[in-house]
Amino acid sequence: MENILDYTLEELSIWMKENGESAFRANQVMTWIYKEVFNFEDMKNIPKALQEKLKNSLYIGIPEIVEKYESKIDGTQKLLLGFKDGNIIESVIMKYKHGNSICISTQVGCRMGCKFCASTLNGRVRDLTAGEILSQIIVAQSLIGERISNVVLMGSGEPLDNYDNVIKFLKLVNAEYGLNIGQRHITLSTCGLVPKIYDLADKDYSITLAISLHAVSDEKRRAIMPIANKYSIDEILEACRYYIEKTGRRITFEYSLVSGVNDDKEDAKALGKLLKGLLCHVNLIPVNEIKENTLKRPSKKTILDFEEILKNQGIEVTVRREMGSDINAACGQLRRKFLAT
Ligand code: SAH
Repeated sequence: MENILDYTLEELSIWMKENGESAFRANQVMTWIYKEVFNFEDMKNIPKALQEKLKNSLYIGIPEIVEKYESKIDGTQKLLLGFKDGNIIESVIMKYKHGNSICISTQVGCRMGCKFCASTLNGRVRDLTAGEILSQIIVAQSLIGERISNVVLMGSGEPLDNYDNVIKFLKLVNAEYGLNIGQRHITLSTCGLVPKIYDLADKDYSITLAISLHAVSDEKRRAIMPIANKYSIDEILEACRYYIEKTGRRITFEYSLVSGVNDDKEDAKALGKLLKGLLCHVNLIPVNEIKENTLKRPSKKTILDFEEILKNQGIEVTVRREMGSDINAACGQLRRKFLAT
């Protein structure tokens, strides 16, 4: 059985023809799905015989909402979603004045091994397919009854370690008959798989690239991010320059502040120097403390000082607003909690 959400309209049209049906049926079926009819039998203008055919070889892979936590402070909703094979992932819906955003996962677990991250503690279980990545948005829209207009690929997993599926997802999410979310409303976050950044740049998409930098020297970076053994900061920045040149898009650098590890005034100065002249924006993220390690977030003052030093060097910087703090479940922690019980 194949997940129909993995199909583009074109591919479904081919499927129809191969199964002795008219191509326009593909349009009809897709329209139903995006009207949130998740059952072939309820697709009223589809003949019974075709409904049967569809049912026999395809399924509509909407994940099950296994658990849902809603913040009383800001309405953020964290979802634990279950797929047919029993795997569980996390997605987070955030409500802003300018619209709804969703943070989605690209893999079950992750193999990048960043020291501060809960998603990677048990490694990667498997990649998500394009349809499974997409299904997180569909199920979320159906839950809240509102459109989601912004997507960040910042949940569990390394998107560029699941490159082909993520590229296909970008195609699907963009489709006019579907969610119709423009590339400018999509942010892809990577720990810095350099060759894949070049590949992505060559696609000439206008998605925002976010780089998880988290340190200003290779030595410091290696201490918290194993990927730094493979690619240097210089190589990452070179790839970023290429990305900017090709797409004209401003890059976001994510910098998780960890007390005593990367939050020194010297770090801030060095970061400013490193990024000077680059079309970019720095997002400071006070590290979410997880019980599996002893990493702590810096004091408020340290965070503000760090921000100030960057600003003084002409770097655009914001401190990430914390959403859903009362549901107390940082990156990857919900899934871990669930698996442990
Ligand atoms: N693998 C991708 C995307 C997933 S993580 C990447 O590395 O970019 C999204 C962001 O959250 C990354 O910047 C990641 O480094 C950061 N992150 C992960 N765990 C965190 C934690 N406990 N506290 C703060 N930031 C964290």
